[in-house]
Amino acid sequence: MTHVVTDNCRGCRYTDCVASCPVACFHVNEARVYIDPVTCIDCSACIPACPVHAIVEEFDLPDDQQYWIGINAEAAQRYPRLRSKLPALDGADERRRSLGY
Ligand code: SF4
Ligand code: SF4
Repeated sequence: MTHVVTDNCRGCRYTDCVASCPVACFHVNEARVYIDPVTCIDCSACIPACPVHAIVEEFDLPDDQQYWIGINAEAAQRYPRLRSKLPALDGADERRRSLGY
């Protein structure tokens, strides 16, 4: 079991999730973050920290979103680990509003 970051993260990257994680699971690229399933201890601390509800427990993923498990695992190997909060991306507030938050 792990937690995964889904599509709502794209274009936001508020990274409040990163500040909440006790074991530095998050990896980052220019558009979003991913969770390393090997490092994640399933504490769920990151879920309420995300303003756009992008993070879910693997167990709660609907069938048509199971592909996010593999995407997070692969991207965590490809992109650098992020240990502290970054400024949100330009347009993050508009993206949040477009998602209904
Ligand atoms: S807080 Fe949510 S939107 Fe922001 S980087 Fe983390 S998962 Fe992505
Ligand atoms: S569930 Fe806990 S350990 Fe896993 S990414 Fe979220 S805060 Fe980090």
